[in-house]
Amino acid sequence: VGLDELDARISVCRACPRLVRWREQVAETKRASYADQPYWGRPVHGLGSPTPSILVVGLAPAANGGNRTGRLFTGDRSGDWLFASLHRVGLATQGTSVHAADGLALIDTRMVATVRCGPPQNKPTTAERDTCSPWIEAELRLLAEHVRVVVALGGYGWDATLRSYAALGWEVSRPKPRFGHGIEATLVGDGRSVTLLGCYHPSQQNTFTGRLTEPMLDSVFARAAALGRT
Ligand code: SF4
Repeated sequence: VGLDELDARISVCRACPRLVRWREQVAETKRASYADQPYWGRPVHGLGSPTPSILVVGLAPAANGGNRTGRLFTGDRSGDWLFASLHRVGLATQGTSVHAADGLALIDTRMVATVRCGPPQNKPTTAERDTCSPWIEAELRLLAEHVRVVVALGGYGWDATLRSYAALGWEVSRPKPRFGHGIEATLVGDGRSVTLLGCYHPSQQNTFTGRLTEPMLDSVFARAAALGRT
């Protein structure tokens, strides 16, 4: 299975009854407000380069953002911060992301979600997280020969990355490295190593309160860009 086939399979996944009900219910109630655009309302697959040296791991698409547009982080507030920063450090062709056909492309970078369907209150259950984990593991396996740095958004993305690489048999140092903004850890496997880089999630909770600022976000992605080139 290649990346295109993986994306296609993810797009029709119905493995989590609660999340399938939720995404279909949100699509039904919100579709009319976006009548001028296609409404995706299905699981959201990875976005960006098929041969990335930088992988960004998030939590889940926003129900009315990525889950609506069909492109991760596109059309939601977190995406506004994320794409602007990626553009400032040279990892995206433009700094805004409005809909899936707006021409945005990521440079040497790919983004994936740990859980591919937006959950109610942005909180997947542990069972839903585990049900979705084979998708990210399959994607990591396909990308392994290219990825040199993983930017984990928030503690959830951090833990998911550690768990996924461990599931592939990679070595993760013990005790488990703790998440923090700008914290780096090294993962080793298949004769390669990957730098895991922590980044506060650009959620409104973090950006409105000043916990995460634009310079803080830029500094993590600039570091990722530098590591990706080495
Ligand atoms: Fe499938 Fe993942 Fe969506 Fe669950 S969250 S239905 S496993 S794509």
